[in-house]
Amino acid sequence: MPIHIKYYGVRGSTPTPGMQYDKYGGNTTCVYIKIDGQHIIIDSGTGIRNLGLDLLKIFPKEGGHAHILFTHTHWDHIQGFPFFVPIYMPSNKFDIYGETKVIPANNRNETWTIENVLSMQQNFMYFPVRIKDLPSNLNFHELKPEVIINPGSFEIHCKRLRHPNDALGFRFNYNKKSYVYCTDIEHSDAMTEELVKFAMNADVMAYDCQYTPEEYTASKIGWGHSTYEVAAEIAIKANIKHVHMIHHDPMHTDTFLQDMEKSARKLFKNMIMIPEGFSFDI
Ligand SMILES: [Zn+2]
Ligand SMILES: [Zn+2]
Repeated sequence: MPIHIKYYGVRGSTPTPGMQYDKYGGNTTCVYIKIDGQHIIIDSGTGIRNLGLDLLKIFPKEGGHAHILFTHTHWDHIQGFPFFVPIYMPSNKFDIYGETKVIPANNRNETWTIENVLSMQQNFMYFPVRIKDLPSNLNFHELKPEVIINPGSFEIHCKRLRHPNDALGFRFNYNKKSYVYCTDIEHSDAMTEELVKFAMNADVMAYDCQYTPEEYTASKIGWGHSTYEVAAEIAIKANIKHVHMIHHDPMHTDTFLQDMEKSARKLFKNMIMIPEGFSFDI
């Protein structure tokens, strides 16, 4: 059975509605992966709302189950969670994975688990239903960088990514096939070398191609994102078959993204600028 991937949100930073964004879509980060009949979701940006509607059609009546992994908890990666309809059904069960972070605040350290962050987002001041009042069965798990977990008949490798307050990358291995997901990431020589090892011989690597190399150098250093030029470099050195370009900048219109794809393909032939709704089987 193939690893099935479908992108429900590929926009970075903030939802971006508008006719000039119609082809690539305005929903923020959310990817659905099906491996050996198991449902996996990466991030709950606004794209998860449409994914939830699709899952309602395929979840069995007696209840469905999915794993939800978080790369990190910037808004564009969590803000759709309250609108993910399957969490409102008591028969459904979700295993939710994210990193625990310790943040200096008010002269002390605050510890934030993924459950804390999602609960804060659904504080009664912001949303009418609290996480602890959701009818579905939510089980929270801590993820750590540089570990391997086996939540099903597949393996997930976690990787520390360079980003403000850090992010995690994932590599899914199943039946000699592999899918690597790397956003949000800002490259450096050391990070690129680590990713070459992490993504070695992957069938597909989805990579944060938010900026052109020119934009990055001119004004985006330190913003936490990368370029298609670095994606191509990693793909060539790591012998990757396909690169999926994701985390589109809210300022980039459809025509701009099409031009970016053309420039990227001059560096590495198998690069696709991913539109929302795009699916791919490995
Ligand atoms: Zn992001
Ligand atoms: Zn981020």
